[in-house]
Amino acid sequence: MTTRYDADRDEYRAALAEIGAPRYRLDQIWDALYRQRAPLEDASSAPKALRARLAHRFPLALTELARAEGDAGMTVKWLWGAGEGAEVETVLMRSPTRATVCVSSQAGCAMGCTFCATGQAGFERHLDRGEIVEQVLRAQHAAAQPVGNVVFMGMGEPLANYDATWTAVERLHRDLGLSARRITISTVGIVPGMRRLARERLPVTLAVSLHAPDDTLRDTIVPVNRRYPLTEVLDAAAELAAARGRRVTFEYACIAGVNDAPAQAVALAHLLRPLGALGAHVNLIPLNATTGYPGRPTDRRRLQVFASVLRERGVNTTVRRTRGGDIDAACGQLRNRHASPAAPGGSALPPPAPSPSATMAPWTTFAG
Ligand code: SF4
Repeated sequence: MTTRYDADRDEYRAALAEIGAPRYRLDQIWDALYRQRAPLEDASSAPKALRARLAHRFPLALTELARAEGDAGMTVKWLWGAGEGAEVETVLMRSPTRATVCVSSQAGCAMGCTFCATGQAGFERHLDRGEIVEQVLRAQHAAAQPVGNVVFMGMGEPLANYDATWTAVERLHRDLGLSARRITISTVGIVPGMRRLARERLPVTLAVSLHAPDDTLRDTIVPVNRRYPLTEVLDAAAELAAARGRRVTFEYACIAGVNDAPAQAVALAHLLRPLGALGAHVNLIPLNATTGYPGRPTDRRRLQVFASVLRERGVNTTVRRTRGGDIDAACGQLRNRHASPAAPGGSALPPPAPSPSATMAPWTTFAG
């Protein structure tokens, strides 16, 4: 069955014709869903009975299983049931004037990054376009601020689910009117996907998760590095930067005693040097500790030292603050907690006890 945000205009047109609705209803419904970004049930320009029939014809894909709020309500995280037993997470980050949504592209993830709660739990299935777009709109329905940024930094590796990711990007751009530059796709370095992205018409932003300055270490943190080693990832990043005329962003989760030594900052700066005139931007983010990985986040002082070493070598660097630490906001954590027998099921979760550590979630990069 085609779901509400997977269906395209032709499918709505056909459904409305079946119902016997006049043609102008199509524009009203489409406008309400995507320009006004309202729930179908609230599309008051169309008769209530018509809305009800359309809602039945095009059901929602996601069922809310849990919701948690943090940062005084400015950060909201959902756990959705996505059918076939799959569960996915979405995070809404609000500022006074705008909102960012971090979406999942897969239920689970096959990449197996050792520090990541989603990677630790394994892969379930790909999400389809409708499930990705619906995450953005369901978050928008909960936010007074317009969603201006969407980041593919939730569960899953978006470039391992390329077609659904890209068709979702096209819908977000064309139908919701989001600027392509404000749509960020984060990858651990799926080189064929990066090269394909470089040839796309829409200039979305790419963020590459590095987490290590050399292959030996990266092999142990990001296993896909054995398939796509750093030189190949950086070649593909350079190709994309050249195609876009913009530098690429690199994410680096700082893990105490693992990848945060000043010498490793020197090695990272050296690694990024071939990116040339366009250069690179590095986001340093303290690791989010998970129960399945013994690593701890780098402390603030050491983060600043690491950043200074990079900057002294000409690498544009930002130390990111994090949001949502009180709601298991990093990818995979809410799902794991929901799955735990200790967690109450099927309802909003109370905030867990404060973690002794800072959180790192890839999406925090874009916290306002
Ligand atoms: S960090 Fe991203 S790519 Fe790696 S396992 Fe987690 S979700 Fe997958």
